[in-house]
Parts: sequence; structure tokens; C-alpha cells
Amino acid sequence: GVYTKVIQVPQDKPNYIGRFAPSPSGLLHLGSLVAAVGSYLQSKANKGEWLVRIEDLDPPREIAGATDAILQSLEAHGLHWDKDITYQSERTEIYQEVLDQLLHSHNAYPCSCSRKEIEVLAERGELGMIYPGTCRNGPTQTTRAHFSYRLRTKNAYIAFDDIRLGRRSQHLRREIGDFVIKRTDGYFAYQLAVVVDDALQGMTEIVRGEDLLPNTPRQIYLQIILGYPTPRYLHL
Ligand code: GLU
Repeated sequence: GVYTKVIQVPQDKPNYIGRFAPSPSGLLHLGSLVAAVGSYLQSKANKGEWLVRIEDLDPPREIAGATDAILQSLEAHGLHWDKDITYQSERTEIYQEVLDQLLHSHNAYPCSCSRKEIEVLAERGELGMIYPGTCRNGPTQTTRAHFSYRLRTKNAYIAFDDIRLGRRSQHLRREIGDFVIKRTDGYFAYQLAVVVDDALQGMTEIVRGEDLLPNTPRQIYLQIILGYPTPRYLHL
């Protein structure tokens, strides 16, 4: 007889997973609604899943009631999410594990610099102060009670093709400098959390506002270091 090999696509794993990841630091404004609608439509057009993740990692900037208001706005616009909502505030153990891994592999280091100390030495780039690498070989002020943690950018030059904007690139050390992945106040930085969650949730494509475009090379670099796949990017 004829033997046909059937390659089975797992039924429970869609080939497209997208997301909307609002921070409860404000209500859903027109810009964030564009990101919500855009990511929703891309997911549906690709017969994929659309997940909602609340990025509540920054309590000092959180506005009481914002999460509920955002979810109500999404529902009111007919944007229904698949699966349970995830909350980054419940995932800090995972981020700490990844930070430990990065420290262990010397891709991250503790930094004792205050903002003022950085201002004295740093050059200003288009995206703000470029961290001058003061603590790269060890914290300069060892008596500080709290450190931040930075990712070592080495000589990374990151180029990627945005679906809408085409090729974009950034030389991380020259344009950004070693960047914070855990803050002095103990909260994890957006860059680390977003990369960990996008990977663990299996995102295949990230659709979000163009205001976030300057962050993408940092996130791709983290993906490379952590051995995560890089999703496609579409900035609206
Ligand atoms: N939480 C981020 C924000 O509201 C967006 C994260 C993302 O889409 O990558 O600005």
C-alpha cells in the first residue's frame, strides 16, 4: 500500500499568536486603541489567537481602576480576548530567574549609579542619555543599599524588518548603552518583562504603536542572548 506520512500540526497550538499589552498607567486613549484594534485584526485575519496581558509592573505609575477601565473599553469595542488575561505583577519570580541567568552568564551586571552620576558623564543621544558603562566592571559605589541591573550590550548592531516601516537598525552601545533590566527600586524593567512574556506566551507577531519602535532592537538583542525566537514586528 501507499504509505503517506501525515505531518500533524498540533490542534491546540495556533500558528499565529498576537497580543495587546497595555500598562495600567492610564486609560485607553486613541493611540492605545489603535494598537488594540490593529493587533486584534492581524490575529483574526491570520486565524490566530489574540491575548491580553496587563503590564502592571510599575506600581508607582499605576492609576487605580485603570485595569478594569481598559478591559471594559476593549469589551465595549467588541475586542474579545482568547485565553485568560495575564498580569505581569504575578510573574516576578520568572523575571528574577531570567535575571539570575543573565547575571550568571555575565550578560548583566549590578550598577550603583544614580541618575545624577550618570548625567555628569553621559553623552546625550537621540533617545536620551547613553549609559557610559561606569559599572561595567563592577559597581563603583559598593556601599549603596540598592543596585539596578543592566544588560551588557557589547558591540551589538541590531537590524530588523518592520512589516510596515521596513528595515530599521540600531547600534545598542552607541545609541542606548547598557540598559536597565531591573530598577533600583526593585521593579523589573519593561524591556526584560516584555521579552520574557512574549517568548513564554509564544507570540509570533507583535503589533503595537510606533512610539515603542526604539525599544525593539533592545528586545531583539535580549531574545538573542536568551535563545528565544524573534517574532515579526508591525509598528502602527
Ligand atoms: N505596556 C506597553 C505600553 O503600554 C506596551 C508593551 C508592548 O506592546 O510591547 O506602552
